[in-house]
Amino acid sequence: MTIEALARANVRELTPYLSARRLGGKGDVWLNANEYPTAVEFALTQQTLNRYPECQPAAVIERYAAYAGVKPGQVLVSRGADEGIELLIRAFCEPGQDAVLYCPPTYGMYSVSAETIGVECRTVQALNDWQLDLPAIEQQLNGVKVIFVCSPNNPTGQLINPDDLRALLEMTRGKAIVVADEAYIEFCPQATLASWLSDYPHLAILRTLSKAFALAGLRCGFTLANEEIINLLLKVIAPYPLSTPVADIAAQALTAEGIAAMRARVAEIVDNRRLLIDGLEAIPAVEQVFASETNYVLARLNDASRLFKSLWDQGIILRDQNKQPSLSGCLRITVGTRAECQRVLDALRDQESQ
Ligand SMILES: *Cc1c(COP(=O)(O)O)cnc(C)c1O
Repeated sequence: MTIEALARANVRELTPYLSARRLGGKGDVWLNANEYPTAVEFALTQQTLNRYPECQPAAVIERYAAYAGVKPGQVLVSRGADEGIELLIRAFCEPGQDAVLYCPPTYGMYSVSAETIGVECRTVQALNDWQLDLPAIEQQLNGVKVIFVCSPNNPTGQLINPDDLRALLEMTRGKAIVVADEAYIEFCPQATLASWLSDYPHLAILRTLSKAFALAGLRCGFTLANEEIINLLLKVIAPYPLSTPVADIAAQALTAEGIAAMRARVAEIVDNRRLLIDGLEAIPAVEQVFASETNYVLARLNDASRLFKSLWDQGIILRDQNKQPSLSGCLRITVGTRAECQRVLDALRDQESQ
């Protein structure tokens, strides 16, 4: 038997997540992964690398709980929010029997994690304004154990209607877990569902240090939920999900100073977003710029593939969303530094004059 034939059938068929890093490119302007554009520096304070780390480092849990306005028992820390996605599916979905549901166009890891584990992916296309199609979701709920709703949504940038989220939570009570992916919530903090945890035992919220906290390379994320859900996730998580240096830096990022620095970064990115959106709107090849509550902007362009390629060749790496349902001709542009936003606008304007 070949090694390939020995592998699980669903793994043979799997298309791995095409992360921004795997897509490659030789850029000096990286605007394809919604990262913060410059590095924040930290020094390690823990030198006990001969010892195993705590599974759930107390300082990280307590500080994140205080920051998010929940109880420490309602917080799980993991290797990025991506691990949270996987843990939720592993804890709640029986492979070959249960399903997850999500509403494209949205984040790609829900399907990759479900497929890896051998869990069916059910999709309900979002409406024209990318809001939830609740009647269609209700029809598809049979066998669904976990529903992922990304708000604000990646890659479209808008918040999901809170009334619709309430309706979804009512509809699924006692049947399925609703996961609100709040990876970008720092850019619209008033919209968090954290205060809804007291009403809904089946709500889970995903958070990350990868975006507004400028720590994508750290790999640290959080799941907020009631203790019943957290305790189930603790059964399936690895014994040492965070290394000692990760826990050390995460704890520093979550001090009062760290949080103030994050808020200053958010204000700066929101300013740059205005500049980028205004600039894009003035370029004739740009058909539409969608409103954004995040650190990226989705735009529909004339001849998007050619412009994407041309900017790529100039070292400006954007994210092509053309293949996602309802996103033909769309590019997603991370809001970088002012200079980087300017580079994108200049490159697009230059293209026009050719
Ligand atoms: C970036 C992102 C994540 C992943 O966050 P990590 O903590 O880096 O794993 C999860 N969900 C969405 C919608 C994201 O954009």
